[in-house]
Amino acid sequence: MKIGIMGGTFDPIHIGHLVAAETVREGLKLDEVWFMPSHIPPHKAEAGFSAEERMEMVELAIGTQPAFRTLDIELRRGGVSYTVDTMGELVTKYPDTRFHFIIGTDMVNYLPKWNRIEELAGLTRFAAVGRGGYELHQEVVPEAVASVIDYFDMPQLEISSTEIRSRLKSGRSARYLVPENVHDYLQRSGHHAAYARTID
Ligand code: ATP
Ligand code: MG
Repeated sequence: MKIGIMGGTFDPIHIGHLVAAETVREGLKLDEVWFMPSHIPPHKAEAGFSAEERMEMVELAIGTQPAFRTLDIELRRGGVSYTVDTMGELVTKYPDTRFHFIIGTDMVNYLPKWNRIEELAGLTRFAAVGRGGYELHQEVVPEAVASVIDYFDMPQLEISSTEIRSRLKSGRSARYLVPENVHDYLQRSGHHAAYARTID
């Protein structure tokens, strides 16, 4: 099996995440892509949606693509989610599976700062997609890590969860930036109001 791991906070999930996952699924002929929300440490818990809400929106968003699944391994583990711990667990649990961890340009540039990055590069390959608004700085990535990154072109989408949260906060909609059913979820009474309360 060849599996893509789409990790992120998904606070909330948006079409940039979905296009990234679909681009890599096609490009690498992956069997499946697993969307894996990271746990947010307690001190950040009020920055956005709860873990349950983030996961619920991911489930809504991937609903129509049979090759997409969710993975709650980091939510269940709690604490700070280090990808190296997660991939170590997955590689042990699925010894016959090859993993490809999907990241946007901003994360490629940040790879040198990831916890135990060279160990991680021994556990998974990376699938990098161009992210609108971020210039790629491949030169900052150590050679041992650079050699396990595959690059894919995708339509440049300058969309971020941060920008969506700021829209919601000021009462604007995220329609078309998120899938229709996620938009409906955000609009549904209760969630939107509760969210606005937590970030004020
Ligand atoms: P935030 O603004 O809260 O950081 P985000 O939009 O960056 O949210 P994350 O959950 O942090 O979303 O990102 C998860 C992964 O998806 C990261 O690897 C990130 O680079 C990638 N990604 C997010 N948005 C895009 C996009 N518009 N195009 C390509 N990749 C993206
Ligand atoms: Mg981000």
